[in-house]
Amino acid sequence: MSWRATALTLFPEMFPGTLGHSLAGRALREGRWSLDTLQIRDFATDRHRTVDDTPCGGGAGLVMRPDVVDAACAAALAGGPDRPLVYLTPRGRLMDQALARELASGPGVVLVCGRYEGLDQRVIEARAMREVSVGDFVLSGGEPAALLLLDACVRLLPGVMGGADSAAEESFSDPRGALLEYPHYTRPAVWQGRAVPDVLLSGHHAAVGQWRRDQAEAATRERRPDLWRRLRETQD
Ligand code: SAM
Repeated sequence: MSWRATALTLFPEMFPGTLGHSLAGRALREGRWSLDTLQIRDFATDRHRTVDDTPCGGGAGLVMRPDVVDAACAAALAGGPDRPLVYLTPRGRLMDQALARELASGPGVVLVCGRYEGLDQRVIEARAMREVSVGDFVLSGGEPAALLLLDACVRLLPGVMGGADSAAEESFSDPRGALLEYPHYTRPAVWQGRAVPDVLLSGHHAAVGQWRRDQAEAATRERRPDLWRRLRETQD
């Protein structure tokens, strides 16, 4: 059975979005993964199909009702193999390549896309949702975050990416610690007075490998001291 993603959303028309194109889109059409959506509003029980209500304790905005979201979760999880339930939220742990690897190696994922001020805390706890953030900024809804998470997972599925080597070498690929990738060059050898580094044209594979490793380390040290520190700690 192929890797299965289900998005619970108030905007199903936002899917597959960018994932209908390029590598992920081809893999979707080839059946290497599947994507379905559930309209959360379909699980509302009143005649106005209400999914939200005012926050207890007052304040701005609206909160998504736990009973409605819970019913949507139950429908998504019914009958299939156990899939993790992920709620996209700025309060979650930061998405990273390790999580993409973990989710891609399982049966799939059910993604809950929030709107308004987000979900009532009780349904997050009752459903033991994994809370995942895609960055320290606030989006207006969970849908773009869900597409981003799915993109990172789908490209790791067997047969989705052309060259296995590109996955093995790219940024964050080493499970023991993350390095940013080295810089890339292609032809022409000189462009606007800027030359491709000599070593890349030398044909010496070992020298190219060493140069790339040095470049990856330098970029990580300068741009992401947090990753560099973690890498050093795992090596000690
Ligand atoms: N009141 C929330 C807060 O301050 O944490 C923000 C709610 S936001 C306007 C609405 C929805 O967008 C959230 O429930 C979540 O699903 C999604 N969202 C916003 N930023 C996100 C992020 N950085 N990562 C993942 N999901 C996000």
